[in-house]
Amino acid sequence: MSSYEENYLNLRPQSLCKMCGRCCKVVTTSTPYPKLLEMFENGYEPAVDFLSIFEPFKSVEDARKADAGVVDNIIALLKEDGNYNEDELTFYTCKYLQEDNKCSNYENRPKLCRHCPSTPWSIVPPGCGFEGWLFWRREEDKQKIRRAKEELLELKLLRKKTKSPESLKRIDIVEQKIQKNIDAYKKYGSELW
Ligand code: SF4
Ligand code: SF4
Repeated sequence: MSSYEENYLNLRPQSLCKMCGRCCKVVTTSTPYPKLLEMFENGYEPAVDFLSIFEPFKSVEDARKADAGVVDNIIALLKEDGNYNEDELTFYTCKYLQEDNKCSNYENRPKLCRHCPSTPWSIVPPGCGFEGWLFWRREEDKQKIRRAKEELLELKLLRKKTKSPESLKRIDIVEQKIQKNIDAYKKYGSELW
């Protein structure tokens, strides 16, 4: 079993889903649409899965007509993170979503639907049943990073007292490993935690 399944997927209480269908009605990706098409043509599995179910809205206004709350929430969060680029933003809707907000492809839905929301950092529609649970998972990530920063400080002190080149080398390796973990969360603001 992969650590992703152990650490996240199997712990995620699926019963929190209200089956409102909002995460199927209007979504976006961090990858711009032309790049996504290129990845699709090259057979990159996540892009193939995504474009096999999602179709782009012609405009942001059309997406707003489908669910203004979701569109405005996504735009606000992208702006907050400094990742908003109007020219590269495309919204999509799933062709399998029915009028009653149920999925007509449920048994065969791709992995991306089964994993949704796929990380504690996924943007979910306002009022999504997972909101509270994702919040606490994000807090856990933040605590993990704060502990990692403390470890770096302790290693810095240890370095001052260490003379042996072998030990210094080991400190380097451990520091690099910890720093890599911290950097993995940089896009979520780990420098400020
Ligand atoms: S928006 Fe949240 S509560 Fe609604 S269907 Fe999607 S995952 Fe479930
Ligand atoms: S395939 Fe079904 S679960 Fe997946 S996005 Fe479409 S409607 Fe939602």
